[in-house]
Amino acid sequence: MNIRVGLGFDIHRLELERPLLLGGVRVPYPKGLVGHSDGDALFHAVTDALLGAAGIGNIGDQFPDTDPRYKDVDSSILLGEAARIVRGHGFEIGNIDANIRADEPRLSVYFRQMESNAAAAMGVDSAQVNVKAKTMEGLGSIGRGEAIAADAVALVYTP
Ligand code: MG
Repeated sequence: MNIRVGLGFDIHRLELERPLLLGGVRVPYPKGLVGHSDGDALFHAVTDALLGAAGIGNIGDQFPDTDPRYKDVDSSILLGEAARIVRGHGFEIGNIDANIRADEPRLSVYFRQMESNAAAAMGVDSAQVNVKAKTMEGLGSIGRGEAIAADAVALVYTP
């Protein structure tokens, strides 16, 4: 069996009057993430982790932000497409672990839904996805509420 891991990271700026989408969940909050797509930093980190594990570049290579097709795109579509590409290279998805870096809002009540959304996008079981979060203790841009970031690792394998 060929087992490989991949690492993903993403950060987006928070601005007023934008919807806050994380892991496909619309989180009630006065600010939201700015991006060419819907700004879902969690899904972007997971997408990059998957592509990295399969050794096939990154989200920017596969879904360029210069491409108008990806303007305001639902990031679950990008994640699903990344899973399809990874499977096309002969890999199965083992598991995903992800961490959101945010001081506000509190996100723990949404973790199970984020896991379920990510799993559905990738075509895997919810038990294969783990989502958690950490505050930055008021430090830096995330601590000041100017951004939210996410980290993810993915394990893929050839059956
Ligand atoms: Mg992004």
